[in-house]
Amino acid sequence: MSGKKFGHRNGQIPDYNIVLLGQIGVGKSALTVKYITRRFIMEYDPNIEDTYTKHEDLDGTEISVHIMDTCDKETSDQNRYLRWADAFIIVYSITNSGSFEKARGYLQDVKTHAKDVPVALVGNKIDLERYRQISKEEGSALSTEFDCLFYETTAAEEFEYVEDVFHGVLHEIQKERSQLNF
Ligand code: GDP
Ligand code: MG
Repeated sequence: MSGKKFGHRNGQIPDYNIVLLGQIGVGKSALTVKYITRRFIMEYDPNIEDTYTKHEDLDGTEISVHIMDTCDKETSDQNRYLRWADAFIIVYSITNSGSFEKARGYLQDVKTHAKDVPVALVGNKIDLERYRQISKEEGSALSTEFDCLFYETTAAEEFEYVEDVFHGVLHEIQKERSQLNF
């Protein structure tokens, strides 16, 4: 895992570091694995925190995407990922209003401690529409309040939903860097 930012060091592939946050069970690991492998894994140890790497073509440039799939431990060292992250994906489940409130807490934390770092709010599990507790409008309103991207997704169905989230976030990082460099 590389902590270096703003890539292109010695002609190497630039690193894009993304941290996933959210209440346990919302689908952080399922989304991560779906993005990395295009597969949906039903059961994933909720206590595993790990970092995954995938090479991507971002508008014709090869980049190295690193994803930290966290596990929402009270004890986990926030500073560690706050320093490392180029962007955050904050996940809740549309079927769980508690996870939505938890997402608000994460948004507050991130916006306080990592002000200019891009953030995407993601309402996951839209395949479970009949159990929906949080409307799309509520999700969208929260993202407006915190000035971040907003998506609804499912890790259980089409890959495109999940890919859109990660690509949206990668473009935000790219935009942020080009503003810093010029
Ligand atoms: P995490 O604790 O946030 O990493 O959550 P997991 O990725 O381990 O997912 C928790 C549970 O929700 C697992 O049983 C997953 O199979 C399930 N799950 C995750 N994403 C989805 C989804 O989009 N739709 C459905 N139906 N189940 C999901
Ligand atoms: Mg997990």
